Amino acid sequence: MDFALSEEQQMVVDTVRSFVETEIHPHEAEVERLGYVPQELARQITAKVQDMGFYAPNMPEEVGGGGLDHVTLTLLERELGRGSMALTHFWGQPQNALLACTGEQREKYLYPTVRGEKMDALAMTEPGAGSDVRGMQCRARRDGDDWLIDGTKHFISEGEYADFFIVFVSTGEEQTHKGIKQKITGFLVDRGTPGFEVTPGYNSVSHRGYPNHILNFDNCRLPASQVLGEVDGGLQVMNDWLYASRLTVAAMCVGRARRAFDYSVQQAAEREQFGQPIGKFQGVGFKLADMITEIDAADWLTLAAAWRLDAGLEADRQIASAKLYATEMLARVTDEAIQIHGGMGLMDDLPLERFWRDARVERIWDGTSEIQRHIISRSLLRPLGA
Ligand SMILES: Cc1cc2nc3c(=O)[nH]c(=O)nc-3n(C[C@H](O)[C@H](O)[C@H](O)COP(=O)(O)OP(=O)(O)OC[C@H]3O[C@@H](n4cnc5c(N)ncnc54)[C@H](O)[C@@H]3O)c2cc1C
Repeated sequence: MDFALSEEQQMVVDTVRSFVETEIHPHEAEVERLGYVPQELARQITAKVQDMGFYAPNMPEEVGGGGLDHVTLTLLERELGRGSMALTHFWGQPQNALLACTGEQREKYLYPTVRGEKMDALAMTEPGAGSDVRGMQCRARRDGDDWLIDGTKHFISEGEYADFFIVFVSTGEEQTHKGIKQKITGFLVDRGTPGFEVTPGYNSVSHRGYPNHILNFDNCRLPASQVLGEVDGGLQVMNDWLYASRLTVAAMCVGRARRAFDYSVQQAAEREQFGQPIGKFQGVGFKLADMITEIDAADWLTLAAAWRLDAGLEADRQIASAKLYATEMLARVTDEAIQIHGGMGLMDDLPLERFWRDARVERIWDGTSEIQRHIISRSLLRPLGA
């Protein structure tokens, strides 16, 4: 087993780290203060990433993307995690659900998004259906050759910028061993479609400058050409997206934790109390030991899950473990980073209080910690018939 990075992987790591340090870090405090990203800055980040040839690294080369394998993509995302998400998402990673586009949909949605000419957002969650996505109430019903959509989605990231939305709605019901569940279909919905409204969502404690939106559908008419994938086949498209996005979350948590750790080691070595560096007190030095051990564990768990995907092996359980452990690790590491900095850790002169706040959402979005535990335990018990 070879844990060394290839030349290409090392180049990706070095390039992204340097980009994040020079193009992202200097703007973070201002974006945090403003609560939004100035348009010019957003355009500038996207343009620079495009110039470097790094836009849409997650998409296959056949559709114009970077075509990175999962391990290399994970390394890239780990470095992006060292920057504020409000800014790094302009790096541009189209939703992989777009690969379900066919025919003209590819010209209208997939290719322009991969080129960075259009932005996408993905909507599953509803006020009444979060973890239980198959309990969704937003519905599409047939009307001749068209579909009419009614209902509401909330917590939708990228809603501020998206030119179009990948929206998953119910297109009927089916009896399952767990009772009646919704059949789900994906639709491509352009901003500005009559009967479709995008309004600002809630103010969140995490990731200021990375807003969420509410989508309202009121008799919104869509032609059949807007169906993404097969009618009633949306669950698979949605699940494929969820697994990729969970790996992204895990990788970014590892990157952010390392950044918090870097501050902590520095502080432990430089800050003196009682006539010596505080790191020499076992109470502080042992915290560092625990932090780096947990960060490395999350890192390897995440890379190993990515490696399984590249090897064509089943990875649902490993991705769930990586997402669960990396997000919970980040909460502990950012908390200890503040403790090591004492009172200054809570002040916004340092970014640590921001890392700590940002960490909170990671255990919730893209499937809560409880849902990851559910996936893991189910994968262990199901083969035994339990
Ligand atoms: C800032 C933000 C941005 C988001 N962006 C998007 C987006 O772009 N697109 C999108 O579609 N969604 C998005 N989401 C939604 C996100 O994925 C959901 O918040 C998440 O899936 C949890 O759903 P919920 O918030 O409704 O919580 P609920 O599902 O109501 O869960 C509440 C609690 O019950 C627990 N629980 C629920 N079911 C079980 C169970 N079976 N076993 C044990 N515990 C359980 C949960 O773990 C949790 O602790 C976003 C959320 C946030 C906060």
